Amino acid sequence: MRARLFVDPDAIVANWRQLAGRCPGAETTAVVKADAYGLGVAEVAPALLRAGCRTFFVARLGEGVELRALLREARIFVLDGVGPGEEETFTAHDLLPVLNHAGQIARWREAARRRGRRLDAALHVDTGMTRLGLPPGEVTGSDGPELDGLRIVLLVSHMACADVPDHPLNLRQLASFREVRGRFPGVPASLAASSAIFLGPEWHFDLVRPGVALYGVNPTPGRPNPMRPVVTLRAPILQVHEIREPCTVGYGATRSLSPGMRVATVAAGYADGILRAASDRAVARLAGHDLPYLGRVSMDLLAIDVTALPPHLAREGVEVELIGGPDGIDRLAAAAGTIGYEVLTRLGRRFERCYRAPEAER
Ligand SMILES: *Cc1c(COP(=O)(O)O)cnc(C)c1O
Repeated sequence: MRARLFVDPDAIVANWRQLAGRCPGAETTAVVKADAYGLGVAEVAPALLRAGCRTFFVARLGEGVELRALLREARIFVLDGVGPGEEETFTAHDLLPVLNHAGQIARWREAARRRGRRLDAALHVDTGMTRLGLPPGEVTGSDGPELDGLRIVLLVSHMACADVPDHPLNLRQLASFREVRGRFPGVPASLAASSAIFLGPEWHFDLVRPGVALYGVNPTPGRPNPMRPVVTLRAPILQVHEIREPCTVGYGATRSLSPGMRVATVAAGYADGILRAASDRAVARLAGHDLPYLGRVSMDLLAIDVTALPPHLAREGVEVELIGGPDGIDRLAAAAGTIGYEVLTRLGRRFERCYRAPEAER
């Protein structure tokens, strides 16, 4: 018996369309780095291409090469930019670097000079994240000599606090980006990832780069999730314990059990991405019942309280829902003290993966 991870491509496409509808003046792209946030780029990217998405972002060069093999037509940007010795791989696979600093710009210009033609790239300006990108003071503009030989096809910056709408850094980044953009007349500009799309049209510019919202995570924390759920994780019960004497459950004996409780052992653990930090805090669900985790999550197994379930459901082989419904990922993330991004990207490799909506519970 194996846990089943359902990933619904129709929901991902519906989320992409919803975001595109919110940004009528901009091109809506898709960020599919880290294997489409752990959900499987080979399934996700072609579905988005069929829906009309034409531009994709990945982080690593290897992800770009993999994506190019899946999508012949699309425009693919690599957020890491071009590293030493990588120029040939970029041109061979028709990948576009997001140039982050002077060294990368020089490298791409040299590649253009050697080929005797202009090369396209995006340029990343750091407006307040201090992660990747040029400081605004180092960017002269599209006709500056330091970009000679290149054609800048996209000006990019990234928001640090877009999930906190009234954070003061948001308006500072917006103002800084507008100012730099003025030095690049006619060049498309992009500031917004998932959360910034919801800050309003001023943040959309010419192109938006949603990732996590496509996959059903709430881009507006603290407010209702506007996205359709994408991921459902169901894991089978392996064994049920009728507790007759006071005892404890799991490693460290951290959780006491009392007579009359019924405890189920479920075939999923931290090796599957059910973070150990969710121990004693998360809840599974079945048939409208909340089934709290009991004791520590171990590598392959976790225990849940099924006392509330009717006996025919508290049985070997019955699947309980570990992630599901609106906010399924966000709930598990909150229980583990982390964010939906981390839960998604850590989902394990041992599940049976089903690329469709889950069937209704029995
Ligand atoms: C990961 C990433 C995105 C997508 O962010 P989400 O919050 O997942 O929408 C967009 N732009 C850059 C530069 C990124 O690194």
